[in-house]
Amino acid sequence: MTVEVFALGGYGEAGGRNMTAVRVDEEIVIFDCGMSLDKILIFEKDFQKATTRELRKVNAIPDDSPLKPHRSKVVAAVLSHGHLDHIGAASKILFRYQCNIFGTDFTVELVKSDLKGEERYRSETEDIKISMYAVEPGDEVQISSKLRLEFIPISHSIPGTVLPVLHTPYGAIVYACDFKFDDHQLLGYKPDYKRLKELGKEGVLLLIPESLRVKEEMKTPSEAVAREMVKDTLQFAEEESEGIIVTTFSSHIERIQTIADTAERLGRNVMLVGRSMGKYARIAEELGLLNLPPGSRVYDKPETVARGLHRANKEKEDWLLIVTGHQGEPGAVLPRIADDELPYKLTENDSIVFSSSTIPSPLNKAQMYSLDTKLRMKGVKMFKDVHVSGHAGREDHRLLLRMLQPEYILPAHGDADMLSAYAEFASQEGYEINKDVFVTFEGTKVTIPL
Ligand SMILES: [Zn+2]
Repeated sequence: MTVEVFALGGYGEAGGRNMTAVRVDEEIVIFDCGMSLDKILIFEKDFQKATTRELRKVNAIPDDSPLKPHRSKVVAAVLSHGHLDHIGAASKILFRYQCNIFGTDFTVELVKSDLKGEERYRSETEDIKISMYAVEPGDEVQISSKLRLEFIPISHSIPGTVLPVLHTPYGAIVYACDFKFDDHQLLGYKPDYKRLKELGKEGVLLLIPESLRVKEEMKTPSEAVAREMVKDTLQFAEEESEGIIVTTFSSHIERIQTIADTAERLGRNVMLVGRSMGKYARIAEELGLLNLPPGSRVYDKPETVARGLHRANKEKEDWLLIVTGHQGEPGAVLPRIADDELPYKLTENDSIVFSSSTIPSPLNKAQMYSLDTKLRMKGVKMFKDVHVSGHAGREDHRLLLRMLQPEYILPAHGDADMLSAYAEFASQEGYEINKDVFVTFEGTKVTIPL
């Protein structure tokens, strides 16, 4: 009788390379396989061209070597949602395990698109056998005689997010990275409170929750609040602006829809600019998740980006631009516009809306400082933090914990501070640190007492 958790990535790092493996007796299930967003930005080489060894050296992808002696035991991998810090390394690592991979349709399509992008760089000797299956929320899949996976619908800032549950002979293991409780999202799934409560009654052995915002004493506001903020800000900006540029997360399809719909009401055409904007929008449109208004344009290739912006620059009042670069990432569209590298000239009559918040890593802070300074020097009007988070606040966490009543908790997806803050919060809820709530770091293994 063994339940062991391999903390492979995301334990000790925010926005990090999330990866957890759970061993139940002689079988292993992997949860998520993300890349570290920071490390990718300072990595010199194109991610798709880079080898697993190069990426591991700079800690950009999880170090799954603790699983090496157990490779044949891996029976399945589950991807909880399509954010890069949860699926970004799937195309680099998961194919090495000859196991089935499960995720919802949007998540699976994003991984497939990464794999396609890598095909031409992969050596012919690499044996790629990936069996990916798209599941629906609420689905249950028997993955072996003893183990069953269930996918509980939940809300987050990307469509297709689920809380994967591994049913074992010793109780359920719930992987809650990432989530928030939002009953007013227009896209994605509504949280299934009824099923979560039932699960708590059936018996939860272990909860693995994210910890990013557990210090925030609040329920994270609904996307409905962001919807009103976006409308209010854009209507205000329209009064005295020539150009309007909005920057947001390319994967936040619901937000992009809100921005696009508002632009249409204001009589502006929508132009999506940037590589990742194109990638996510295309897949979301194919799956019917995104409906851009007629007349919208998408420019996502290096050779077309300049052409699109040249046109938008000549007809500033006709367009609303949705661009990459909300964290000031060099190479993304907004920082390149600020650097005068692209044919869109900013003036004091233009408005820049950040429908995002800065991910608080030292690198992002430095990049944002640089972008801010350049934009200010051009005299543009700036609207910051037109955004609500997709991550659970303390009260979201409390609700989940009380519904599930897990025997043990292993806080994940957070830096050391956040993991400890979760443990402290759990101790207020009656758990005891190191007895039934464990703070652990990358590369370690936790044995769950049975
Ligand atoms: Zn996420």
